Amino acid sequence: MRLNTNESPFPPPQGWRAEVARLVASIDWNRYPDREAHALRGAIATRHGVDMSSVFVANGSNEVLQTLLLSYAGAKRTVAVFEPTYQLHAHLARISGATVVAGRRSSDYTLSSEEIQRVVSEHSPNVTFLCSPNNPTGRVEAWGNIELLADISSGLVIIDEAYAEFSERSAVELASTSGGNVVVSRTFSKTWSLAGLRLGYVIAPPEIVDMLHAVVLPYHLDSFKQAAGLAALGYVDEMNDRVARIVAERGRITEALSRLDVDTWPSGANFVLFKPRQIGGHATWQRLVDRGVLVRDCSSWSGVEDCLRVTVGTEDENSAFIEALKQALEQSE
Ligand SMILES: *Cc1c(COP(=O)(O)O)cnc(C)c1O
Repeated sequence: MRLNTNESPFPPPQGWRAEVARLVASIDWNRYPDREAHALRGAIATRHGVDMSSVFVANGSNEVLQTLLLSYAGAKRTVAVFEPTYQLHAHLARISGATVVAGRRSSDYTLSSEEIQRVVSEHSPNVTFLCSPNNPTGRVEAWGNIELLADISSGLVIIDEAYAEFSERSAVELASTSGGNVVVSRTFSKTWSLAGLRLGYVIAPPEIVDMLHAVVLPYHLDSFKQAAGLAALGYVDEMNDRVARIVAERGRITEALSRLDVDTWPSGANFVLFKPRQIGGHATWQRLVDRGVLVRDCSSWSGVEDCLRVTVGTEDENSAFIEALKQALEQSE
């Protein structure tokens, strides 16, 4: 079983599938798509209580982030991240031509306000990333840190909320005011069970959304995706039910891990990071693979040495993972 890429273990609702099949039949395939994806952006705006002018949609939140960096990073500019965090932020920043500076999280993966102040005052980054809940640690960022960063940063502040629905607090309320410097990215890949659709968006001040529309390729979002995404937003209750099941299972996994010989950290996402105390991370990963369980091997990543990340699966998958881990930790060479 695959518990390594933080996908939803549950498929999207049957009703959505049927609706998509109907929508496909009525698309004007000979015409270009609605270039500004009005209907989809309008529905996302309604969901978040913001104006449509504060919503930009793209092919996965990774394309949203890339477009933000093409617009606000690039050569001779600086992008800040706080490691350990989602590696793609630094990677996309470097591809844009920017210099990446990395602040450090504490050993428990929280972030100190002193470190935020140090990075901002030493480097005046043009773009700063926070990921909350943070991948791969699972930590939800302290609200004070987000406010502090927004307050002291003269550049753009990107809050990556790919896992927001699995936790409680969101920074969306900071993101839509004109003149502000905070933007919040979201994705359909995790909570909406639609990793295969490649759809993500950002809530941002309208002038930033205008900039993104100027930078992104014309007609970047195809008609099918616009229709399928809009249809998905009609199944909010089903999404919330899936999220509740996953959050409950996350609790069960965390509880089970606390009784094993591993360190673990509180997670606000659909995965849990853990570190075997006696055996190396990679060796444990291999022992899990030998038992048919694939988790994410983070053991060679900076700041999470010897750690593994397990995605919350179905009830049966999680039970199998816990049993396999027990055996892996007890295995005598
Ligand atoms: C999974 C994930 C994404 C999702 O990217 P998509 O391109 O929307 O699939 C974004 N950010 C983080 C931190 C993630 O873990």
